Amino acid sequence: MIYGKWWFFRRVTALTILGLFVVSARGEYNILVGNYSGSLFLGVIPITDPLIALQSFFATGRLYKTAVLGAVFITIIYLIVGGRAFCGWACPLGLVLDFANWLSKKVRIRKPFKGFLPSTKYYMMTTILIVPIITGVAIYEFYNPISILHRAVIFGGIGIGTVSWLIVGAIFMYEFAIARIGWCRGLCPLAAFLNLLGKFSLVSVKADESRCKIPMNIAEVCPEPNAIAAVINNRIASSDCTMCGACIDQVGGSSIFFGIWKNR
Ligand code: SF4
Repeated sequence: MIYGKWWFFRRVTALTILGLFVVSARGEYNILVGNYSGSLFLGVIPITDPLIALQSFFATGRLYKTAVLGAVFITIIYLIVGGRAFCGWACPLGLVLDFANWLSKKVRIRKPFKGFLPSTKYYMMTTILIVPIITGVAIYEFYNPISILHRAVIFGGIGIGTVSWLIVGAIFMYEFAIARIGWCRGLCPLAAFLNLLGKFSLVSVKADESRCKIPMNIAEVCPEPNAIAAVINNRIASSDCTMCGACIDQVGGSSIFFGIWKNR
């Protein structure tokens, strides 16, 4: 793994977003008020996770203007930069799980489980969309690990914070000791939803071997084997790609790069 410029930029981006949530929650600045499901940027720009907006609509049968505006805004961004870009650049749980995987490599943990099949996360997504129709409640939001991690950071180590940290710790251990990229690749319903959106995205990762040969070991740096396999075989990353840029850092931006491409 090379810690190149894309690694640096996306770490700074994810930490900045988390930091803005924290300072805004403490009332120091009102820059990004809310959480990863729904927030208000600079007091005027609504930001809504489209999957949460759908669950809320299925639960209540109502559309709330601010939520719809926020969901449309974010959907447009995903259609430009790729749905899974959230996973690579903004998700706070991604920071934790990347650390778990890095640590398990360092101490050479032999993981006994390859993780659930990638198709499992689509079943998870379907389930969390059907349950609100039946129950009238967007139940997943209570168990969403991204929201739980946000609560853990905001509330600290007492009460809600303690319970939240325990849940985050359990997911960390699953990733550290049991399955590599186990949550994002196999179980996360948001990753499934963003994969679907990513099929239509404008920007993607592309390879051009006429510029420079792609190294044989490139797949080792990619968190999504399907994405890098598509880069190697079809020259354009699949919608599994988190736009993390690890493959670009690895080749120094020569044969693999970000570009505007259609028709994955
Ligand atoms: S194809 Fe490249 S940019 Fe996409 S997830 Fe894999 S390493 Fe990251």
